[in-house]
Amino acid sequence: MNIVKGVTYRCKYNVGSPSCDLYGDFIVDCTGGNSSSTKWLNEGFDLIVPSEQMYYGCGSVTFIGERFKTGDPMIDSITMGGCTVNVPTRNTGMHVSPMRTIKTANENSSGILSALICHCVNSEFPPNDSYENLLEWTKTHLPSEYYVMLKSTKVLGPLVPYRRAINQRKFLKSLGNKWPQNYILLGDALYTFNPQYGQGMTHPCRLVREFNKIFNTNYHQLKDISYIFNRRASSISEECWLISTANDWKIPTLKLIQGHSYIYRNKQNRFDKITTSKSALESLPNELLLIIFSYLSSFDLCQTFLYLNNARTQHLLTSIRRSFNTNLMHYDQLHLWLNSNQNHRNRFTNLIDTVVFNDSYASRTLLENWKRLSMKPINTMCSVHR
Ligand SMILES: Cc1cc2nc3c(=O)[nH]c(=O)nc-3n(C[C@H](O)[C@H](O)[C@H](O)COP(=O)(O)OP(=O)(O)OC[C@H]3O[C@@H](n4cnc5c(N)ncnc54)[C@H](O)[C@@H]3O)c2cc1C
Repeated sequence: MNIVKGVTYRCKYNVGSPSCDLYGDFIVDCTGGNSSSTKWLNEGFDLIVPSEQMYYGCGSVTFIGERFKTGDPMIDSITMGGCTVNVPTRNTGMHVSPMRTIKTANENSSGILSALICHCVNSEFPPNDSYENLLEWTKTHLPSEYYVMLKSTKVLGPLVPYRRAINQRKFLKSLGNKWPQNYILLGDALYTFNPQYGQGMTHPCRLVREFNKIFNTNYHQLKDISYIFNRRASSISEECWLISTANDWKIPTLKLIQGHSYIYRNKQNRFDKITTSKSALESLPNELLLIIFSYLSSFDLCQTFLYLNNARTQHLLTSIRRSFNTNLMHYDQLHLWLNSNQNHRNRFTNLIDTVVFNDSYASRTLLENWKRLSMKPINTMCSVHR
């Protein structure tokens, strides 16, 4: 019978202390993203838990600092705020929030102790070896006002790096009765998300509320509760997953791992190696695929999905209108694409309805190359002046 009788406990602060066993009728694993459940369920119950991980190169450097006047009242008025990442255009961001007021005789001080965080996706990590290097990084990776803000900040503690965040999830509903009948996973032990979208706390709170509802209805037997919970949790988790990860599909070096299969998205922004028999994308309904598609620029969308050998994805791709806007891509992406072979270029341009031009170097480059490379005549050209 699939029953977990208890857990073995050892005090981690006292190496060599004896372990003791804790027994329970119902066990909730809320030990976070490093939960060892998958490992021991495999060893003890011969259970392989289907899982998925998305590595999106997330990292941050956090520190505490005292801010001083910059001479720009607009910048000085930001006590709480920052700039978020906006992949793939900007893969770095920063955030500042007040912690507490401080007494100071310096009239240039803001009088506030702030927590500051510089963060990134796509492995464009902020350095943490010295504040000088971090400042140098912000010069090129953040809007200029945040460089000015950080330049006028006195660091009052260590620069704390963090580089471990991944999106990961376990598909427990699909295991049905194979899953232990008196055991559930909660919070990060079940799903871990990109912290940017605040689902890390929302998700366990919503699950606990659902768990409470199941327990409060007296007609369920204890042996059925984990199955009922896994079924109901799956739709809640899916919602949180979509909110947290939809934007991550735009990350150029995204790496997707399903069980032991690797799907790797390379710098040319397409999935390179798919060794899985059934892609995660194939299991998503059309509605969800269209939501994911709506987050991507036409260029990213086609570079990512056009080459997947999947009739349904191809059909969805051809059913939506697409425009080509060089403002929504990196110049090196455009350069690579212009230098790719004609067949590759034509597959994309054949799907384009409108090309958006504006007064940018990228637009001029595209216009000059369009005729030279014998690309199809453009039906609609839209010119945008800034
Ligand atoms: C950099 C970063 C920023 C984030 N920012 C946000 C945010 O702004 N908003 C948001 O909603 N979420 C955010 N999150 C996510 C959020 O922190 C997590 O989703 C949330 O803490 C998950 O809670 P949990 O209780 O499941 O796991 P955890 O908070 O990881 O708690 C698990 C606990 O179990 C303990 N434990 C582990 N193993 C054992 C064991 N064998 N025995 C006993 N105890 C054990 C651990 O020590 C830990 O205390 C962020 C995450 C990161 C990494």
